[in-house]
Amino acid sequence: MIDCLAGQLTCKAVTEAITDYLEGNLGFVERIRFQMHLGFCRGCRRYLRQMRLMLRTFGTLPMEPIPPAVRDELLQRFRTWKSRSQT
Ligand SMILES: [Zn+2]
Repeated sequence: MIDCLAGQLTCKAVTEAITDYLEGNLGFVERIRFQMHLGFCRGCRRYLRQMRLMLRTFGTLPMEPIPPAVRDELLQRFRTWKSRSQT
């Protein structure tokens, strides 16, 4: 049961849902799955930490320069996420 829930979430799904997660837009089951994936996936934990930092930076220090690589990745994810929710 637990394996089944955790197995349903891929790294790709986690990174795509990460803004929803941070904004509290995920449903209960999705949150659980998300957290379980983070429990065993180091890469996604690191990504989540970066995103948290990023949101905090945007929220408190809008003028703070963002590393270009991180910014590009962010922008790309937002674009993907946007185009998908619009179509
Ligand atoms: Zn992962």
